[in-house]
Amino acid sequence: MDQKEEGVSPVELRELKQLLARSSLAAGLYMPGDDTVPAVRVQQTAMKAKELSLIRYAVGIELVPGRIVGVLINEHGTRLADEQLVLADMEVQTVVSGAASVTAALVDAVPSARAACGRVALGFQLGGPVDTTTGTVLFYHKAPPRMPGPIQDIRWPDKQPLSRMLEDATGLPSFIENDANAYALFQLWFGAGHETSRFAVVLINEGVGGSLVIDGRLFDGPMELGNLSVLPDKVDNARPCDCGGIGCLETTGGIHGILENVYKYAHRTVDNVVDAAALAERYDTRGAAEAFRVAGHANAKGIGIIINFARPEQVVVYAPQVMTEHGRAAAAEFLTELGEFFSFCHPALHGSAKLRIEPVRPYDGAHGAALLALERCFDILPENAAAPVGKPQ
Ligand SMILES: [Zn+2]
Repeated sequence: MDQKEEGVSPVELRELKQLLARSSLAAGLYMPGDDTVPAVRVQQTAMKAKELSLIRYAVGIELVPGRIVGVLINEHGTRLADEQLVLADMEVQTVVSGAASVTAALVDAVPSARAACGRVALGFQLGGPVDTTTGTVLFYHKAPPRMPGPIQDIRWPDKQPLSRMLEDATGLPSFIENDANAYALFQLWFGAGHETSRFAVVLINEGVGGSLVIDGRLFDGPMELGNLSVLPDKVDNARPCDCGGIGCLETTGGIHGILENVYKYAHRTVDNVVDAAALAERYDTRGAAEAFRVAGHANAKGIGIIINFARPEQVVVYAPQVMTEHGRAAAAEFLTELGEFFSFCHPALHGSAKLRIEPVRPYDGAHGAALLALERCFDILPENAAAPVGKPQ
């Protein structure tokens, strides 16, 4: 092949090859020292390397009790690497150092991100209310179910300046968010957001979180869905919520509430929702199924309230996989009750929203946190999102 015809002189070509040989951006694109590679391939590699050198990246971290889940994405939202870390304890400093080591491992795993100095941001989400403008976690508390068992109480001192702590530990611009909002961002990019710009998310974890997306943007409010009082008619039986209220949605609708009710109805102690669902399948512990039915009822009421005040076109319910898989007793009980949500709405709103059931997948939450960092740090909004809908009538 005549290298002149490729528009680059032999001297330029040699220089380009030397540059590429030193650049981690060309890893996997060009093999240093390979003299048989045509000039056109070297040029293409150089162009690709230049392209990569301009791309922005985000690390997303999800904090769940005992564990950190992390992903690295590029500015198109594509996931390039993932990591998980088991934490020795849930102290704030342990979490921050764990997040820093996961972040370093993720960036190190992707050569183009490693080379992207100044173009990597960090998003971090957890199940508690946060002030996104100051980067402060207002409080983070995971009370164990009230029954015998190994689940520990987790409580941070109030008002932790987590964004600043993460920035100090990682050297990256850092942004924090509530977990349900992170899941909502993931849906905005890759799920409900392709069909509508107006939807709600209900996130069933230890407690219950909620989020609203209006005109393709997150509603900036605390949205303490789990602390809406949905069972005031059962005050006599209800236990007080961690917030001090009675009949809060998450006292029966979240996983800790379900574990407590399994203990109450089936007289068995389990410390996770998978084992609780297994009990619901068995004849001798079938009372456990009632815990899932009650959870469906509580969440249906919560969804009714969301529809009454915000009229979303879709309500995305993220629940543990054992509560969403057809053919499982726990899922059947939960989903049947959940499907009754319209009976808790104003009649004029019946039929206005559809449910979208999603299992909590391992990386959606961390991915949502990374999307948050793309938006807050680089102003990158989702591609292919639905256009805003008209105002409610
Ligand atoms: Zn409460």
